[in-house]
Amino acid sequence: MGEEREDRDPVRVVVVGGGTAGWMTAAALARLLPGRCTVQLVESEAIGVVGVGEATLPHIRAFNERLGIAEADFMARTRATFKLGIEFRDWGRIGDSYVHPFGTFGRGTGAVDFHHYWARLLNEGAPLPPLDRFSYACTLAREGRFDHPDPDRRRLAGTFGYAYQFDALLFAPYLREIAEAMGATRTEGIVTRVERDGESGDIAAIVLGSGERIDGDLFVDCSGFRSLLLGEALGETWEDWSRWLPADRAVAMPCRTATAVTPYTSAIAMPAGWRWRIPLQHRTGNGYVYASAFTSDDDARAALEQAVEGEAIAAPRLLRFAAGRRRRSWVGNCVAVGLASGFLEPLESTSIYLVQQAITALIELFPERRVAAADRDEFNRVIDLEYDRIRDFLILHYHATTRDDSPFWNYVRTMAVPDSLAEKMELWRRRGRVVKYREGVFLDASWVAVYLGQGIVPTGWDPRADTVASAALLEGLHALHGEIAGEVAGRSDHRAFIARFCPMADAA
Ligand code: FAD
Repeated sequence: MGEEREDRDPVRVVVVGGGTAGWMTAAALARLLPGRCTVQLVESEAIGVVGVGEATLPHIRAFNERLGIAEADFMARTRATFKLGIEFRDWGRIGDSYVHPFGTFGRGTGAVDFHHYWARLLNEGAPLPPLDRFSYACTLAREGRFDHPDPDRRRLAGTFGYAYQFDALLFAPYLREIAEAMGATRTEGIVTRVERDGESGDIAAIVLGSGERIDGDLFVDCSGFRSLLLGEALGETWEDWSRWLPADRAVAMPCRTATAVTPYTSAIAMPAGWRWRIPLQHRTGNGYVYASAFTSDDDARAALEQAVEGEAIAAPRLLRFAAGRRRRSWVGNCVAVGLASGFLEPLESTSIYLVQQAITALIELFPERRVAAADRDEFNRVIDLEYDRIRDFLILHYHATTRDDSPFWNYVRTMAVPDSLAEKMELWRRRGRVVKYREGVFLDASWVAVYLGQGIVPTGWDPRADTVASAALLEGLHALHGEIAGEVAGRSDHRAFIARFCPMADAA
């Protein structure tokens, strides 16, 4: 206290929380804004981390690259596998299966998106293989193969991206090494009090159980579901989305891998929610995400235990959550990143992505010692958009179903959806058109995969798709299907690829 600080002195950033969000933030700030800020992270081993979060989106590769992380090293250390998309089983109807790929359908190069041709032929009653077969990424995934994408996007082998499936407990420690090497410091302790400036209401300091007082200019709340600074200390309102996303619990239980190490995550619909299957190098992660209004914890646990495909290696663990977000993620001099800012269930593996987007926006709008309202508003606008669009995309998975075999599915099938989603679905049904975004995570191919995968076939399409005769179109599609299958057959088996490229350190 007491020392005079200049406006040009580095901004003192205090990060509260050492889970994935905390260490991603600390590593990125220390690495990308050296000299502009100092980073001190406070975490408590006694409280621990949420410890789940194993499936990611392709954007994480850009994050890792910016931090100078070498892919093979990162994958070996976090025991990671490759992820080409998500397989959805039993969603539209029991027995259905489709892959939401990290890639396009068709060649991805024409003026008219591939699905318009496909929808037209389907409406004409043509005998068509499922849409999946016209995606290089889906075919690669279904065949259990992997190779890095061809950098030439005009080639079929360049029409996809990929992400990782990794051990959630190993990622944060990996980032901690990077952050500390770049000068970030770590303090062990439990935050018991938050001091606010009497005039501005900003956070002035946090106080630990030991009595230690840590002051700072900018406080990043990465304290998890508790939202210690933004939610508890600043009282930012919680916006509840549970009427659309009623799942509020999960039971998680890893097992030995008894089946294939698939290069994709599986999301298998269950009577009151869905279950994940995420194969890593050393084990498979499993969990049942469910709505407690529609099933009991005991029944959910029993259903998961019965469903897992290998010997359990830990007792089932219960997690509670709610769908929604804090109205604003940045208030005063406090920015919430990760679970402290909000939560959308893990159906499309979006949480770590949201962490990354918050960090990117924070870096781009990094404040002077005094935060400008315009910067803060822009940050909140960007993050709100991300949340809103992911929310709508998740709701679509539940709502676009014909399932009527349980009270849960009856509820989500018949519930009123947000206007923003109803408008998107209407446009799709009429025109086969995906609402275009300039910002937001899921682009056209993702929406197309889920709409068609769950049985919403458009009755109209881009008129330019009518300019080719049906027979020629069908012939072209079959040739494309054959070409994709032929190319994929030449790719490496996923497990063999990992064994060559990034085997975990203590692998046999
Ligand atoms: P946490 O891991 O909870 O970390 C909070 C930190 O704050 C800890 O270090 C804790 O010690 C510290 N802390 C809290 N209170 C105090 C205090 N008083 N004093 C000091 N320190 C304190 N995301 C994905 O991207 N993909 C997935 O597949 C995925 N699956 C998920 C499945 C489930 C069931 C759930 C619940 C979440 C899933 N997520 C997933 C989300 C993902 O786990 C989180 O986004 C990610 O782990 C980041 O968590 P966090 O760092 O915000 O919080």
